[in-house]
Amino acid sequence: MKLNGNFQNLEQSYLFVTIAKKVNEFTESHPDNQLIRMGIGDVTLPLAPVVIEAMHKATDEMAKKETFRGYSPDSNGYPFLREAIAGYYQSLGVDVEAEEIFVGDGAKSDVGNIVDIFDDANTVLVPDPVYPVYVDTNIMSGRKIVYADANMENGFLPMPKADHPADIIYICSPNNPTGAVYNREQLQAWVDYALDQKAVILFDSAYESFVSPGLPRSIFEIPGAEKCAIEFCSLSKTAGFTGMRCGYTVIKKELCFDGVSVAALWQRRQGSKFNGVNYITQRAAEAVFTPEGIKQTRDAVAYYKRNAGVMVDALRELGYWFTGGENSPYVWFKCPDNMGGWEYFDYLLNEKQIVGTPGEGFGKNGAGCMRLSAFGDAEKTIEAMERIKRR
Ligand SMILES: *Cc1c(COP(=O)(O)O)cnc(C)c1O
Repeated sequence: MKLNGNFQNLEQSYLFVTIAKKVNEFTESHPDNQLIRMGIGDVTLPLAPVVIEAMHKATDEMAKKETFRGYSPDSNGYPFLREAIAGYYQSLGVDVEAEEIFVGDGAKSDVGNIVDIFDDANTVLVPDPVYPVYVDTNIMSGRKIVYADANMENGFLPMPKADHPADIIYICSPNNPTGAVYNREQLQAWVDYALDQKAVILFDSAYESFVSPGLPRSIFEIPGAEKCAIEFCSLSKTAGFTGMRCGYTVIKKELCFDGVSVAALWQRRQGSKFNGVNYITQRAAEAVFTPEGIKQTRDAVAYYKRNAGVMVDALRELGYWFTGGENSPYVWFKCPDNMGGWEYFDYLLNEKQIVGTPGEGFGKNGAGCMRLSAFGDAEKTIEAMERIKRR
């Protein structure tokens, strides 16, 4: 028996371990601290009332023999939810059918698992800085990874270049960690490039609900994307489902390589390794897409966006270079006085009692940058930015 040797090639994830260690040391030596945590990539507001109501109702159904549900008939989701999601796409002006939607337990699982259906000899293009899941899942299967540099020059929005030919292209917009968002023309350039290269785009739209009108929320708003892209979305950030676990992957019928339907392969993969999201959660997810659900969940997103607005205003006042915050719960900025990200992290922790996430944790191009999250409390966000402004 041999273990998968590729796991030896994974880099140790020091980021959150190191942050936790530094924060623990600080809180132990400052028991009366006023620490404000802005490193979080998790939502903090409770689920919307319509969602709770749907879960109570579904729970009652599970309590009676007549309405009890066991395995779902299809591991890709109940028709009621797939149709509700298709309806949401229609409201964006995007033509997606219920059968092109595959419900899963979150975008992290789907983005990680999709590589099962791709050959290991493919070359993968990921942005740097990057959401680590894209890198680690490909290292586990031994694929070659090349990086598209995101930096201040390109506004942390790398564009296709002739010198990075790739078969599998990851795009996350609005981006985690940088908060930067591609416009229509930029996404069109990526779609044209992928079609030309016969590559597939894996489009992570986990933060689509933060996008302001005028910018694309879905890759399928871009002509040609149906022939080269797979979209991954999740209710985690849209509707506070991080602890519920529900997401969806969209693969259009048109997406084929060598005459083989990608949707059919994914369906086969999921049918073999996954038995579907639990019924109660699927009913909760359905409620998110009702008019009242959209309204209630958008209220929570608006709350986080107001926090992001407070952060953006402060950074403007300070004259710091930044991206994000406008279409994203993250702001990403250049640390003052040419400090490194960890150096500035220590400064914020010790002098301002604020926890951020140093850019170094997301790739070499993150060096000297800091990510702050808007998922916290409104008053604390205001207080944190006041502290940062008092230099
Ligand atoms: C939070 C997040 C997700 C969502 O993951 P889930 O597994 O659905 O909770 C996906 N992609 C990115 C980049 C994220 O930050």
